[in-house]
Amino acid sequence: MKLLLLGANGQVGWELQRSLAPLGELICLSRASTDFCGDFLNPTGLAQKVHNIKPDVIINAAAYTAVDKAESDIASAYTVSADAPAAIVQAAHVVGACLIHFSTDYIFNGSGTKAWTETDTPAPLSVYGASKLQGEQAISVSGVRRLIFRTSWVYAARGGNFAKTMLRLAKERDTLSVINDQIGAPTGADLLADITAHGISRLMASYQLSGIYHLAAAGETTWHGYAQHVFAQARLLGVDLKCKAENVVEIPTSAYPTPIQRPLNSRLDCSKLKSIMSVYLPDWQIGVNRMLNEIL
Ligand code: NDP
Repeated sequence: MKLLLLGANGQVGWELQRSLAPLGELICLSRASTDFCGDFLNPTGLAQKVHNIKPDVIINAAAYTAVDKAESDIASAYTVSADAPAAIVQAAHVVGACLIHFSTDYIFNGSGTKAWTETDTPAPLSVYGASKLQGEQAISVSGVRRLIFRTSWVYAARGGNFAKTMLRLAKERDTLSVINDQIGAPTGADLLADITAHGISRLMASYQLSGIYHLAAAGETTWHGYAQHVFAQARLLGVDLKCKAENVVEIPTSAYPTPIQRPLNSRLDCSKLKSIMSVYLPDWQIGVNRMLNEIL
């Protein structure tokens, strides 16, 4: 089996390089690939690469993920997160490839307290969310065999993430104010990558599994709860922080204005994935603890 991984150097892409390697011949493209076109600002070039490589499976881990910047860089956000996936899926159709794609809880408006299901109506609050929705819609209507995984609050040991930022600030300050009214589940890029590899095997065995799946770690927390957990765990690992878990002050989203309105309710109902793909989703703390063990 020939697999083409796009966006290979992002959080998820990097973990996919590991998890996909045993499945077959893996070709990785990133923006930095000079010999191949990996630039999502050039959808035509990307499609041409798919025609040339003729993979069995395309895995797209690239997206315009600078959510605040997307508000002022609208054209690029749509090209990368909507037009490029549309061009890729058209090419996938021609060469007969399956497509694996990632989307986000930001396609929802974050209202209510119920976990979002795959059939709930999207209503993005931001350019990032709207561009991601347009990308997944182009794939959904294509007829191509596909898996679209909507996830939330992704972290990885590699690159920057919320936990690392909090740890840096906690070494400098006695107290920190962190948002307590956005609710979701921190989800490891390694978990996403492992379930993607599992999903590809399942999709190859049964094309009827095509569709959208919500995929996040089990349980839920707020950014405040996440920060407290990180500090408590860091302390257990012997890291000296000025700001202790009990000194993290809860603030509402309204006290921390950003260019975009972030969804308050990012809960994802993952029961479809669990029942159809027979996967177990571990509690979010397990993956976060593992990541902390790795970076501290
Ligand atoms: P990252 O920001 O870590 O990675 C995104 C990747 O996209 C990077 O490798 C980046 O390349 C690449 N990319 C961006 N613009 C271009 C471009 N013009 N040409 C080629 N590559 C480009 O994101 P994640 O790994 O966290 O995200 C993976 C998927 O998960 C995305 O679809 C995202 O929307 C989704 N998701 C992410 C969440 C999160 O909290 N991060 C939450 C929910 C969903 P480069 O390395 O060169 O910058």
